[in-house]
Amino acid sequence: MISEKMMAFVKNSSVIRAMFEEGKRLADIYGSENVYDFSLGNPSVEPPTQIKEALIDVLNEETPGKIHGYMNNSGHEDVRESIALSLNNNFGTDFNSDNIIMTVGAAGGLNVILKSLLNSGDEVITFAPYFGEYRNYVSNYDGTLIAISPNTSDFQPNLDEFEEKINDRTKAVIINSPNNPTGVVYSEKTIIKLAEILNKKQVEYNTSIYLISDEPYRELAYDGVKVPYLTKYYRNTIVGYSFSKSLSLPGERIGYLLIPNEVDDCENLLSAANVATRILGFVNAPSLIQRAVARCLDAKVDVEIYNRNRELLYNSLLSYGYECVKPQGAFYLFVKALEEDDKNFVQEAKKHNILIVPGSSFGCPGYVRIAYCVDYSMIERSLPGFSKLASEYQKK
Ligand code: PLP
Repeated sequence: MISEKMMAFVKNSSVIRAMFEEGKRLADIYGSENVYDFSLGNPSVEPPTQIKEALIDVLNEETPGKIHGYMNNSGHEDVRESIALSLNNNFGTDFNSDNIIMTVGAAGGLNVILKSLLNSGDEVITFAPYFGEYRNYVSNYDGTLIAISPNTSDFQPNLDEFEEKINDRTKAVIINSPNNPTGVVYSEKTIIKLAEILNKKQVEYNTSIYLISDEPYRELAYDGVKVPYLTKYYRNTIVGYSFSKSLSLPGERIGYLLIPNEVDDCENLLSAANVATRILGFVNAPSLIQRAVARCLDAKVDVEIYNRNRELLYNSLLSYGYECVKPQGAFYLFVKALEEDDKNFVQEAKKHNILIVPGSSFGCPGYVRIAYCVDYSMIERSLPGFSKLASEYQKK
Protein backbone atom coordinates (compact mmCIF):
# COMPACT_ATOMS: atom_id res chain seq x y z
CA MET A 1 0.00 0.00 0.00
CA ILE A 2 1.46 3.39 -0.94
CA SER A 3 1.73 6.19 1.62
CA GLU A 4 -1.25 8.43 2.32
CA LYS A 5 0.76 11.45 1.23
CA MET A 6 1.59 9.85 -2.13
CA MET A 7 -2.04 8.85 -2.64
CA ALA A 8 -3.03 12.50 -2.77
CA PHE A 9 -0.17 13.31 -5.21
CA VAL A 10 -1.09 10.41 -7.50
CA LYS A 11 -4.75 11.45 -7.54
CA ASN A 12 -3.76 14.99 -8.45
CA SER A 13 -1.33 14.05 -11.21
CA SER A 14 -3.90 11.80 -12.86
CA VAL A 15 -5.72 15.00 -13.95
CA ILE A 16 -2.68 15.98 -16.05
CA ARG A 17 -2.32 12.44 -17.35
CA ALA A 18 -6.03 12.43 -18.26
CA MET A 19 -5.52 15.61 -20.31
CA PHE A 20 -2.61 14.01 -22.15
CA GLU A 21 -4.67 10.87 -22.85
CA GLU A 22 -7.55 13.04 -24.02
CA GLY A 23 -5.25 14.78 -26.53
CA LYS A 24 -4.21 11.39 -27.92
CA ARG A 25 -7.85 10.24 -28.11
CA LEU A 26 -8.90 13.39 -30.00
CA ALA A 27 -5.92 13.05 -32.37
CA ASP A 28 -6.98 9.46 -33.18
CA ILE A 29 -10.51 10.60 -34.04
CA TYR A 30 -9.88 13.93 -35.81
CA GLY A 31 -6.24 13.62 -36.96
CA SER A 32 -3.40 15.26 -35.05
CA GLU A 33 -3.41 18.34 -37.34
CA ASN A 34 -6.97 19.09 -36.16
CA VAL A 35 -6.19 18.97 -32.44
CA TYR A 36 -4.75 22.12 -30.85
CA ASP A 37 -2.78 21.23 -27.78
CA PHE A 38 -1.86 24.36 -25.79
CA SER A 39 -1.56 22.52 -22.50
CA LEU A 40 2.18 21.95 -22.05
CA GLY A 41 5.09 24.34 -21.43
CA ASN A 42 7.42 22.24 -23.59
CA PRO A 43 9.63 24.56 -25.71
CA SER A 44 8.81 24.34 -29.44
CA VAL A 45 11.93 26.23 -30.53
CA GLU A 46 15.02 24.07 -31.14
CA PRO A 47 18.09 24.57 -28.90
CA PRO A 48 20.71 26.92 -30.37
CA THR A 49 23.12 25.11 -32.73
CA GLN A 50 25.98 25.91 -30.30
CA ILE A 51 24.57 23.31 -27.90
CA LYS A 52 24.95 20.42 -30.34
CA GLU A 53 28.46 21.61 -31.24
CA ALA A 54 29.37 22.00 -27.57
CA LEU A 55 28.18 18.47 -26.75
CA ILE A 56 30.29 17.04 -29.56
CA ASP A 57 33.30 19.18 -28.64
CA VAL A 58 33.07 18.19 -24.98
CA LEU A 59 33.10 14.51 -25.93
CA ASN A 60 36.02 15.01 -28.31
CA GLU A 61 38.12 17.40 -26.28
CA GLU A 62 37.68 16.71 -22.59
CA THR A 63 40.22 14.59 -20.77
CA PRO A 64 39.03 11.02 -20.14
CA GLY A 65 37.61 10.71 -16.62
CA LYS A 66 36.46 14.35 -16.63
CA ILE A 67 33.10 13.80 -18.31
CA HIS A 68 31.30 10.74 -17.04
CA GLY A 69 32.58 10.38 -13.50
CA TYR A 70 31.23 11.44 -10.10
CA MET A 71 32.25 14.90 -8.97
CA ASN A 72 31.69 17.29 -6.07
CA ASN A 73 27.92 17.17 -5.33
CA SER A 74 27.73 20.89 -6.15
CA GLY A 75 28.92 20.28 -9.73
CA HIS A 76 32.08 20.77 -11.78
CA GLU A 77 34.22 23.54 -10.30
CA ASP A 78 35.13 25.06 -13.70
CA VAL A 79 31.49 25.04 -14.86
CA ARG A 80 30.42 26.86 -11.69
CA GLU A 81 33.28 29.33 -12.19
CA SER A 82 32.13 30.07 -15.77
CA ILE A 83 28.56 30.67 -14.62
CA ALA A 84 29.67 33.02 -11.82
CA LEU A 85 31.82 35.02 -14.28
CA SER A 86 29.00 35.22 -16.79
CA LEU A 87 26.60 36.55 -14.12
CA ASN A 88 29.22 39.10 -13.03
CA ASN A 89 29.60 40.27 -16.63
CA ASN A 90 25.87 40.56 -17.19
CA PHE A 91 24.75 42.03 -13.87
CA GLY A 92 27.87 43.67 -12.41
CA THR A 93 27.81 41.28 -9.45
CA ASP A 94 30.71 39.70 -7.55
CA PHE A 95 29.96 35.96 -7.40
CA ASN A 96 32.42 33.08 -7.53
CA SER A 97 32.19 29.33 -8.07
CA ASP A 98 31.42 28.69 -4.37
CA ASN A 99 28.13 30.56 -4.75
CA ILE A 100 26.87 28.23 -7.48
CA ILE A 101 25.37 24.75 -7.06
CA MET A 102 24.51 22.89 -10.25
CA THR A 103 21.00 21.41 -10.09
CA VAL A 104 18.71 19.01 -11.89
CA GLY A 105 16.70 21.84 -13.50
CA ALA A 106 14.75 24.48 -11.59
CA ALA A 107 12.64 21.71 -10.06
CA GLY A 108 15.75 20.05 -8.59
CA GLY A 109 17.06 23.42 -7.38
CA LEU A 110 13.81 24.31 -5.63
CA ASN A 111 13.73 20.94 -3.88
CA VAL A 112 17.35 21.31 -2.78
CA ILE A 113 16.85 24.79 -1.34
CA LEU A 114 13.54 23.94 0.36
CA LYS A 115 15.08 20.80 1.86
CA SER A 116 17.95 22.98 3.11
CA LEU A 117 15.70 25.65 4.65
CA LEU A 118 12.46 24.19 5.95
CA ASN A 119 11.59 22.86 9.38
CA SER A 120 8.25 21.12 9.72
CA GLY A 121 5.47 23.74 9.92
CA ASP A 122 7.49 26.54 8.31
CA GLU A 123 5.54 28.68 5.87
CA VAL A 124 6.54 29.58 2.33
CA ILE A 125 4.64 32.42 0.67
CA THR A 126 3.98 32.69 -3.04
CA PHE A 127 1.75 34.85 -5.23
CA ALA A 128 -1.20 33.44 -7.15
CA PRO A 129 -1.31 32.55 -9.92
CA TYR A 130 1.74 30.32 -9.34
CA PHE A 131 3.39 27.17 -10.75
CA GLY A 132 1.29 24.41 -9.14
CA GLU A 133 4.31 22.25 -8.26
CA TYR A 134 5.37 24.76 -5.56
CA ARG A 135 2.67 23.28 -3.31
CA ASN A 136 4.09 19.77 -3.79
CA TYR A 137 7.71 20.83 -3.35
CA VAL A 138 6.97 22.69 -0.09
CA SER A 139 4.90 19.77 1.16
CA ASN A 140 7.85 17.42 0.44
CA TYR A 141 9.62 19.02 3.43
CA ASP A 142 6.52 19.35 5.63
CA GLY A 143 6.21 23.07 5.03
CA THR A 144 2.99 24.93 4.25
CA LEU A 145 2.54 26.97 1.09
CA ILE A 146 0.66 30.22 1.66
CA ALA A 147 -0.74 31.66 -1.57
CA ILE A 148 -1.45 35.39 -1.78
CA SER A 149 -4.62 36.07 -3.78
CA PRO A 150 -4.20 37.19 -7.36
CA ASN A 151 -4.33 40.80 -8.43
CA THR A 152 -6.22 40.27 -11.67
CA SER A 153 -5.96 43.91 -12.83
CA ASP A 154 -2.34 43.47 -13.99
CA PHE A 155 -1.11 40.28 -12.22
CA GLN A 156 1.61 42.15 -10.32
CA PRO A 157 1.81 40.68 -6.78
CA ASN A 158 -0.74 41.80 -4.21
CA LEU A 159 1.67 43.36 -1.72
CA ASP A 160 -0.85 44.55 0.87
CA GLU A 161 -2.06 41.02 1.50
CA PHE A 162 1.57 39.83 1.38
CA GLU A 163 2.51 42.17 4.22
CA GLU A 164 -0.44 40.92 6.29
CA LYS A 165 0.37 37.24 5.77
CA ILE A 166 4.02 37.35 6.88
CA ASN A 167 4.43 36.02 10.41
CA ASP A 168 7.03 34.38 12.66
CA ARG A 169 6.66 31.07 10.77
CA THR A 170 7.48 32.63 7.37
CA LYS A 171 10.78 31.12 6.20
CA ALA A 172 10.79 31.91 2.51
CA VAL A 173 8.99 33.58 -0.36
CA ILE A 174 9.03 32.16 -3.88
CA ILE A 175 8.56 34.51 -6.80
CA ASN A 176 8.62 33.71 -10.50
CA SER A 177 9.10 36.43 -13.10
CA PRO A 178 8.57 36.25 -16.08
CA ASN A 179 5.67 34.33 -14.66
CA ASN A 180 4.12 30.99 -15.41
CA PRO A 181 1.13 31.16 -16.05
CA THR A 182 0.58 34.91 -16.74
CA GLY A 183 3.74 35.82 -18.68
CA VAL A 184 3.85 39.01 -16.60
CA VAL A 185 7.25 40.47 -15.64
CA TYR A 186 7.25 41.88 -12.10
CA SER A 187 8.18 45.55 -12.36
CA GLU A 188 11.13 47.18 -10.61
CA LYS A 189 8.63 49.18 -8.54
CA THR A 190 7.03 45.93 -7.34
CA ILE A 191 10.42 44.44 -6.47
CA ILE A 192 11.52 47.51 -4.52
CA LYS A 193 8.27 47.48 -2.49
CA LEU A 194 8.52 43.73 -1.92
CA ALA A 195 12.08 44.11 -0.63
CA GLU A 196 11.00 46.96 1.67
CA ILE A 197 8.29 44.79 3.21
CA LEU A 198 10.66 41.85 3.66
CA ASN A 199 13.32 44.03 5.30
CA LYS A 200 10.74 45.48 7.68
CA LYS A 201 9.36 42.06 8.61
CA GLN A 202 12.83 40.56 9.16
CA VAL A 203 13.43 43.25 11.77
CA GLU A 204 9.95 42.91 13.29
CA TYR A 205 10.32 39.13 13.78
CA ASN A 206 14.10 39.17 14.26
CA THR A 207 14.50 36.46 11.65
CA SER A 208 15.76 35.73 8.13
CA ILE A 209 13.19 35.53 5.36
CA TYR A 210 14.70 34.12 2.16
CA LEU A 211 13.47 35.29 -1.23
CA ILE A 212 13.74 32.44 -3.74
CA SER A 213 13.64 33.75 -7.29
CA ASP A 214 12.53 30.94 -9.61
CA GLU A 215 13.86 32.05 -13.01
CA PRO A 216 13.38 29.51 -15.81
CA TYR A 217 11.95 32.22 -18.10
CA ARG A 218 14.49 35.01 -17.40
CA GLU A 219 15.72 35.07 -21.01
CA LEU A 220 12.24 34.93 -22.57
CA ALA A 221 11.23 38.59 -22.45
CA TYR A 222 9.72 40.74 -25.21
CA ASP A 223 9.43 44.40 -26.18
CA GLY A 224 12.87 45.10 -24.66
CA VAL A 225 11.48 44.74 -21.14
CA LYS A 226 14.10 44.43 -18.38
CA VAL A 227 13.77 41.66 -15.80
CA PRO A 228 15.27 43.02 -12.54
CA TYR A 229 18.12 40.92 -11.05
CA LEU A 230 16.86 40.34 -7.55
CA THR A 231 20.11 39.96 -5.60
CA LYS A 232 20.56 43.70 -6.16
CA TYR A 233 17.30 44.59 -4.43
CA TYR A 234 17.14 42.24 -1.44
CA ARG A 235 20.09 40.80 0.46
CA ASN A 236 18.58 37.42 1.36
CA THR A 237 17.90 36.45 -2.25
CA ILE A 238 18.59 32.98 -3.66
CA VAL A 239 18.25 32.49 -7.41
CA GLY A 240 17.04 29.23 -8.94
CA TYR A 241 17.93 29.24 -12.63
CA SER A 242 17.22 26.70 -15.34
CA PHE A 243 18.40 26.12 -18.90
CA SER A 244 15.15 24.23 -19.70
CA LYS A 245 13.54 27.16 -21.49
CA SER A 246 16.42 29.58 -22.18
CA LEU A 247 18.24 26.90 -24.20
CA SER A 248 15.24 24.58 -24.84
CA LEU A 249 16.79 21.73 -22.86
CA PRO A 250 14.03 20.60 -20.46
CA GLY A 251 14.76 16.89 -20.90
CA GLU A 252 18.45 17.35 -20.08
CA ARG A 253 17.61 18.53 -16.53
CA ILE A 254 20.13 21.27 -15.93
CA GLY A 255 20.09 24.48 -13.90
CA TYR A 256 21.79 26.02 -10.87
CA LEU A 257 21.18 27.65 -7.54
CA LEU A 258 22.94 30.90 -6.72
CA ILE A 259 23.47 31.60 -3.01
CA PRO A 260 25.36 34.91 -2.63
CA ASN A 261 27.83 35.51 0.23
CA GLU A 262 25.59 38.25 1.66
CA VAL A 263 22.77 35.81 2.39
CA ASP A 264 22.28 35.06 6.11
CA ASP A 265 23.98 31.83 7.20
CA CYS A 266 25.46 31.55 3.70
CA GLU A 267 28.19 29.05 4.54
CA ASN A 268 25.83 26.61 6.24
CA LEU A 269 23.29 27.09 3.48
CA LEU A 270 25.86 26.24 0.80
CA SER A 271 26.91 23.13 2.72
CA ALA A 272 23.27 22.15 3.25
CA ALA A 273 22.49 22.56 -0.46
CA ASN A 274 25.52 20.44 -1.33
CA VAL A 275 24.40 17.67 1.05
CA ALA A 276 20.73 17.99 0.00
CA THR A 277 21.79 17.43 -3.63
CA ARG A 278 23.34 14.16 -2.49
CA ILE A 279 20.74 12.88 -0.05
CA LEU A 280 17.76 13.70 -2.25
CA GLY A 281 19.34 11.19 -4.60
CA PHE A 282 20.39 13.61 -7.36
CA VAL A 283 24.04 13.13 -6.25
CA ASN A 284 25.03 15.77 -8.82
CA ALA A 285 23.50 17.47 -11.86
CA PRO A 286 24.14 15.52 -15.12
CA SER A 287 27.80 15.91 -16.05
CA LEU A 288 27.91 16.10 -19.85
CA ILE A 289 25.23 18.76 -20.13
CA GLN A 290 26.89 20.78 -17.32
CA ARG A 291 30.01 20.96 -19.47
CA ALA A 292 28.03 21.78 -22.62
CA VAL A 293 26.00 24.66 -21.16
CA ALA A 294 29.15 26.17 -19.64
CA ARG A 295 30.36 26.68 -23.24
CA CYS A 296 27.04 28.28 -24.30
CA LEU A 297 26.31 30.79 -21.56
CA ASP A 298 25.81 33.59 -24.08
CA ALA A 299 23.64 31.50 -26.42
CA LYS A 300 19.88 31.95 -26.50
CA VAL A 301 16.95 30.38 -28.28
CA ASP A 302 15.34 32.52 -30.98
CA VAL A 303 12.84 34.42 -28.82
CA GLU A 304 11.40 36.10 -31.91
CA ILE A 305 9.65 32.81 -32.79
CA TYR A 306 7.73 32.91 -29.49
CA ASN A 307 7.10 36.63 -29.93
CA ARG A 308 5.46 36.02 -33.30
CA ASN A 309 3.19 33.38 -31.71
CA ARG A 310 2.38 35.75 -28.86
CA GLU A 311 1.35 38.56 -31.20
CA LEU A 312 -0.83 36.35 -33.39
CA LEU A 313 -2.63 34.62 -30.53
CA TYR A 314 -3.02 37.69 -28.31
CA ASN A 315 -4.32 39.97 -31.07
CA SER A 316 -6.66 37.32 -32.46
CA LEU A 317 -8.15 36.41 -29.08
CA LEU A 318 -8.72 40.08 -28.24
CA SER A 319 -10.51 40.60 -31.56
CA TYR A 320 -12.88 37.70 -30.68
CA GLY A 321 -13.74 39.37 -27.35
CA TYR A 322 -11.44 37.54 -24.92
CA GLU A 323 -9.73 39.48 -22.10
CA CYS A 324 -6.06 39.04 -21.27
CA VAL A 325 -3.19 41.07 -19.80
CA LYS A 326 -0.57 41.24 -22.58
CA PRO A 327 2.36 39.12 -21.39
CA GLN A 328 5.89 40.54 -21.60
CA GLY A 329 7.66 37.25 -21.05
CA ALA A 330 7.59 33.41 -20.91
CA PHE A 331 5.32 31.67 -23.44
CA TYR A 332 1.88 31.70 -21.85
CA LEU A 333 -1.31 33.72 -22.17
CA PHE A 334 -3.54 33.80 -19.09
CA VAL A 335 -6.99 34.49 -20.44
CA LYS A 336 -10.22 35.22 -18.56
CA ALA A 337 -12.56 32.26 -19.00
CA LEU A 338 -15.88 33.21 -20.58
CA GLU A 339 -17.72 31.79 -17.57
CA GLU A 340 -16.94 31.65 -13.87
CA ASP A 341 -16.21 27.92 -13.88
CA ASP A 342 -12.80 27.67 -15.58
CA LYS A 343 -12.89 23.85 -15.51
CA ASN A 344 -16.16 23.81 -17.41
CA PHE A 345 -14.78 26.39 -19.85
CA VAL A 346 -11.84 24.06 -20.52
CA GLN A 347 -14.37 21.31 -21.36
CA GLU A 348 -16.22 23.65 -23.74
CA ALA A 349 -12.91 24.52 -25.46
CA LYS A 350 -12.23 20.81 -25.86
CA LYS A 351 -15.36 20.52 -27.99
CA HIS A 352 -13.38 22.61 -30.52
CA ASN A 353 -10.36 20.32 -30.04
CA ILE A 354 -8.58 23.08 -28.08
CA LEU A 355 -6.65 21.82 -25.05
CA ILE A 356 -5.89 24.41 -22.37
CA VAL A 357 -5.33 24.33 -18.59
CA PRO A 358 -7.75 25.71 -15.97
CA GLY A 359 -6.48 28.62 -13.88
CA SER A 360 -7.46 26.74 -10.71
CA SER A 361 -4.38 24.55 -11.28
CA PHE A 362 -2.39 27.76 -10.64
CA GLY A 363 -4.47 28.98 -7.69
CA CYS A 364 -6.45 31.41 -9.86
CA PRO A 365 -9.92 30.15 -10.85
CA GLY A 366 -11.87 31.96 -13.56
CA TYR A 367 -8.89 31.99 -15.97
CA VAL A 368 -7.21 29.55 -18.34
CA ARG A 369 -3.59 29.14 -19.40
CA ILE A 370 -2.73 28.86 -23.08
CA ALA A 371 0.88 27.78 -23.74
CA TYR A 372 1.97 29.23 -27.09
CA CYS A 373 5.27 27.34 -27.31
CA VAL A 374 3.78 25.54 -30.31
CA ASP A 375 3.98 25.74 -34.12
CA TYR A 376 2.74 29.02 -35.60
CA SER A 377 0.66 27.01 -38.08
CA MET A 378 -1.12 25.20 -35.23
CA ILE A 379 -2.12 28.57 -33.77
CA GLU A 380 -3.45 29.63 -37.20
CA ARG A 381 -5.47 26.42 -37.53
CA SER A 382 -6.87 26.79 -34.00
CA LEU A 383 -8.19 30.36 -34.44
CA PRO A 384 -11.60 29.48 -35.99
CA GLY A 385 -12.20 27.23 -32.94
CA PHE A 386 -11.37 30.05 -30.49
CA SER A 387 -13.64 32.37 -32.48
CA LYS A 388 -16.58 29.91 -32.45
CA LEU A 389 -16.10 29.27 -28.75
CA ALA A 390 -16.39 33.01 -28.04
CA SER A 391 -19.50 33.36 -30.25
CA GLU A 392 -21.21 30.50 -28.41
CA TYR A 393 -20.79 32.39 -25.13
CA GLN A 394 -21.85 35.69 -26.70
CA LYS A 395 -25.14 34.03 -27.77
CA LYS A 396 -25.84 32.68 -24.25
N1 PLP B 1 9.35 26.80 -12.22
C1 PLP B 1 8.45 27.20 -13.13
C2 PLP B 1 7.75 28.47 -12.91
C3 PLP B 1 8.19 26.43 -14.28
O1 PLP B 1 7.29 26.86 -15.17
C4 PLP B 1 8.91 25.22 -14.46
C5 PLP B 1 8.65 24.36 -15.61
O2 PLP B 1 7.78 24.57 -16.42
C6 PLP B 1 9.83 24.85 -13.49
C7 PLP B 1 10.03 25.65 -12.38
C8 PLP B 1 10.61 23.58 -13.61
O3 PLP B 1 11.58 23.75 -14.60
P1 PLP B 1 12.74 22.70 -14.87
O4 PLP B 1 12.40 21.98 -16.13
O5 PLP B 1 13.97 23.51 -15.05
O6 PLP B 1 12.81 21.80 -13.70
